[in-house]
Formats: sequence, structure tokens, C-alpha cells
Amino acid sequence: MINGQILHLQRLSTEDGPGIRTTVFFKGCPLHCAWCHNPESISSRIQTQWFSVRCLDCRTCIGACPNGCLTMTDDGLAIDREHCQACGKCAQACPSGALEAIGRTVSVEDLLVELLKDRAYYEVPALCGGEKSGGGVTLSGGEPTFQPDFAEALLCGLKEQGIATALDTCGLTSTHTLDRLLPLTDLVLFDLKINDPVLHHEFTGVSNKQILENLVYIRDYCRTQIRPFELWIRTPLIPGATNSEGNLQAVGRYLADTLNGTVSRWELCAFNNLCRDQYKRLGMEWAYAQTPLMTADELAHCEQIAKASGLRQDLILATGATRTVEPQ
Ligand code: SF4
Ligand code: SF4
Repeated sequence: MINGQILHLQRLSTEDGPGIRTTVFFKGCPLHCAWCHNPESISSRIQTQWFSVRCLDCRTCIGACPNGCLTMTDDGLAIDREHCQACGKCAQACPSGALEAIGRTVSVEDLLVELLKDRAYYEVPALCGGEKSGGGVTLSGGEPTFQPDFAEALLCGLKEQGIATALDTCGLTSTHTLDRLLPLTDLVLFDLKINDPVLHHEFTGVSNKQILENLVYIRDYCRTQIRPFELWIRTPLIPGATNSEGNLQAVGRYLADTLNGTVSRWELCAFNNLCRDQYKRLGMEWAYAQTPLMTADELAHCEQIAKASGLRQDLILATGATRTVEPQ
């Protein structure tokens, strides 16, 4: 039996591939993007989160922790995350549900049972030659390739059931893992954040060398394999990091020149700050806590730059919420 660590399932998802999908969020990621929108998915360990609004200040949890990891401070409940064993005893003892575990360990078999309950929503199989676009299951995260055995077994089980699959990846993995997962995948959603290797390292903690090499590997795989799949590129638009004219031009040129003919969509995803409270619940600082959403004009400007970069314009799509600017 193969087990994996996941955060949760998102049902009726419409943003992680075509049609109506169920997205499985894996736990654990090899990148540490400064703007990460899913901070709870970075660590592969099960974590504990505290909801201040639900807390009664009864301090039952402090006595329940066998490791002395909890202290009530002026700023709320402090969790010593270095020594927390994720045993869940504090959450069990809490009378108001103010403490919750983030993530769970699940077997492929049990997860498949859950995913197949949504079968009625998936129009299968549509991505590979069908006439209409269909839904299915997307593996996202975190980073699915970070748990290759689990991801491969899950994709295999889904394909055996005729479910369309998508792999949402940051691209930092081995070609060996790609060889295992690509034959089981109908759509690859590949994050290409920053083209310049130095800036990529500065903002994500790693070089993009392997990521770009993997894109070329996927291109060649796509061109030579009997069973093709779709490749969508996604670039998050992060103010001061990825949304510069230079970066969008460079990414667009790369897609047009190096991946010519392989990419079927380049999605520009507007920065969002919905994760702000999640950082607080995890006791983490977020460099973008005060950064507002982009305006519609700013998003349109990014789309304009992308459309002038050389990639076919009809493949470029700007998505995400923007903020309204009050008239002066
Ligand atoms: S047990 Fe729950 S309600 Fe009581 S102090 Fe701890 S977190 Fe707050
Ligand atoms: S999960 Fe266990 S070790 Fe961690 S704070 Fe709660 S009781 Fe303590």
C-alpha cells in the first residue's frame, strides 16, 4: 500500500484544467517562493494551525500537549513548531475547534475511492482527441512530483478508471520522475515564473536550470510520443518579482522560440492575497502581506506585454481577481 501526504481535496474546481475537476493538493514543495499562495503546502510534515477567532483562551491545549510546545502569549497561542510532533492531542482537547491539523496521510486506494465519488462531474476522456473539453482530476500542491511513488500510483489508478488527469507542477523534478508520470498525464500545467536564473534563485530559493531543462524534455517527449498531452504554462504575476516587462518578454520569447508549437496556453495569473490569514495561522511572516491586488489596468498591461513577446496571441490568457480603483 502506498501512502502520501495531502492537504485536502478541492471539489468542483474550474481553475486547474478544463471542465469540472477535483484537485488533490499534495503536501511538500522543493521551492520556497517568496509569494507562495499555499504556505501550508510548503512543508511535507503535518502541521498544526490556530484560529484566533475560535479560541476561548481556556488553555486546555497547553496541558494536553505532551511536548510542552504551547504557550499563550500577548499575541495569541504560540506553537513551538520545531518540537511539535503533530500528534494532534491539542486539537482533540480543544473544546472550540481552534486548533486543526493541516494535512493528512492517505493511501492511494482510499484516495481513489474519494475521487471516484466525483466521477459524474468528469466528462471523460476529452483531452486526448475527444470533441468536447472535459473535467477530471488534477494533482497539485505543494508539488506532486515531490512524492513520485504516490503520484504515479494515483495517476495509474485514475487512468485505469478512464479519468482524465492533469499534473500541476513547479517543474523542479528529475527526468526519471517525468518518465514515470508523463505517460499517465493528459495535461501538464507547468509553472514558469522567472526566466532569469539569478532572479529565479533570489525569489524561489533555487535556480531554474533544471526547470528549463525539464521543459525542453517535456517538449521533446510531447513531439515524439504516440500519445500526446497538452502543455499549459502558468506565470504568477507577482508585483516587483515576476510582473516586470523584462521577465514577461523573456518568458514569452522562450515559449515562442524554444517551445514553439508545444504550448497550447500561457496563463498569466494575477497576484492574490487570500492566503494572508493562512500565514498568520501558521505563525509565519509574509513579505507580501501589505501588497494589494493588481488593478484591471495593470493586469491588462501585463497581458499586452505578453502578447507582444512572440507567442501566438490567442494562446495567452490573463486570469484572476483585480481590485477596483475608486475615482479621485
Ligand atoms: S484549547 Fe482551544 S480554545 Fe482553549 S486555549 Fe487552546 S486553542 Fe484556545
Ligand atoms: S500537535 Fe501534539 S506536539 Fe504539536 S502542539 Fe499539539 S499536542 Fe503539542
